Amino acid sequence: MDFEFAKEQKDIARAAREFAEKEFADRAEEFDRDETFDEAIFKKAAALGFIGLFIDEKYGGAGLGITEQCILQEEFSAVDLGVNVAITTASFGAEAIQQYGTEEQKQKYLPPVTKGELILGSAFTEPDAGSDLAAATTSAIRDGDELVINGPKMFISNGTRADVLLCFLLTDPENPNRHRRHSMVIVETGRQGYEANKLHGKLGVRASDTAEVSFNDVRVPCSNLLGEWGAGFAEAMYCFNFNRLGIAAQAVGLMRACITESVRYAKKRMIGGASLASYQATQFKLADMYTWMRAAKNLLYDAAWRIDQGKTDHALVAAAKAFSGQMAVRCADMALQLHGGYGYLADYKVNRIYRDAKITEIYEGTTEIEKLIIAKSLLV
Ligand SMILES: Cc1cc2nc3c(=O)[nH]c(=O)nc-3n(C[C@H](O)[C@H](O)[C@H](O)COP(=O)(O)OP(=O)(O)OC[C@H]3O[C@@H](n4cnc5c(N)ncnc54)[C@H](O)[C@@H]3O)c2cc1C
Repeated sequence: MDFEFAKEQKDIARAAREFAEKEFADRAEEFDRDETFDEAIFKKAAALGFIGLFIDEKYGGAGLGITEQCILQEEFSAVDLGVNVAITTASFGAEAIQQYGTEEQKQKYLPPVTKGELILGSAFTEPDAGSDLAAATTSAIRDGDELVINGPKMFISNGTRADVLLCFLLTDPENPNRHRRHSMVIVETGRQGYEANKLHGKLGVRASDTAEVSFNDVRVPCSNLLGEWGAGFAEAMYCFNFNRLGIAAQAVGLMRACITESVRYAKKRMIGGASLASYQATQFKLADMYTWMRAAKNLLYDAAWRIDQGKTDHALVAAAKAFSGQMAVRCADMALQLHGGYGYLADYKVNRIYRDAKITEIYEGTTEIEKLIIAKSLLV
């Protein structure tokens, strides 16, 4: 048993940290305020090989695993979560294409993703179907050798920016098994009938593009089916295990940022003739944050390592996601409290972290849904 990252993993962490500090640390506040992002940063990230670390070398990736993808997300998120989301969601769905795609689909989509020439997104959520994914009604109906897609999707990352969306669609509504009613379909967003509207006014991750999208008689060839007809639900679960750990990594990165900001502030803030750091109540806060961060980190990389070994532990993935999300929110609250009134101002990074943290409890499965998964595994 070895709890150390390998040299290559430490190198990725260092390179990601340096990139984030140099390219977006100073611009994160602007992106957050204006709900914008500079695509040049994404292009640079792609040129340095940060997109698709987990994609096979045969398709232009680094041929590494989810562990390395989490290391990257942790480092980027420690600098800014919104920018991390803007960069790393560009390969959101590549894990599914790699796992379930035909050779032709892999050759077509994966190499341009790794080069930053093609932006992906994954569309599962609908206005009336979020946690209960099997209730999704946006449909694909066969018409000759084409699929005709109709319906809305909600909260889609990269909805206005993506070239290709992986869509979870109702294809067999009469199937008595509600987990066999859907299929995954690759949809190019340039097709007629696709519409996306950016959602404004998000609490956090404001550098990232989130959109409501609709499909109005969008036609794709049947060869755009990803994986097996009717197996969309199981395929989605594969994607969720992968991406939930990405969110846990985001939460760990945020917790690290809470500690860094709190230590810096506590050392320099003078209260009653002594530094804020000298008070035991402050030290207890720092100790709690550190302990929660390390516990979350251990859960995260334990779960990631198991996936990379081909021994996916669904309950452990859910535990990593639920715990890290809750602890990120708690750390952010503590860090802001420690900053007093200054933390309430947008000029302080803890203000942004406080707003950003909440999303780690919501997307890719809410804390409640993760807990249901854990409980189900205990109650078999
Ligand atoms: C910024 C952002 C980016 C996103 N990006 C994407 C994306 O790229 N692709 C995508 O498909 N989706 C995306 N989402 C959607 C996200 O995954 C969903 O919002 C999330 O899964 C929750 O679904 P919902 O919003 O419909 O909430 P609901 O499912 O309506 O849940 C509402 C509340 O009920 C609770 N709840 C639900 N079921 C149960 C139950 N059985 N028992 C107890 N409590 C329950 C939930 O935990 C929650 O607290 C994004 C969302 C946001 C905000």
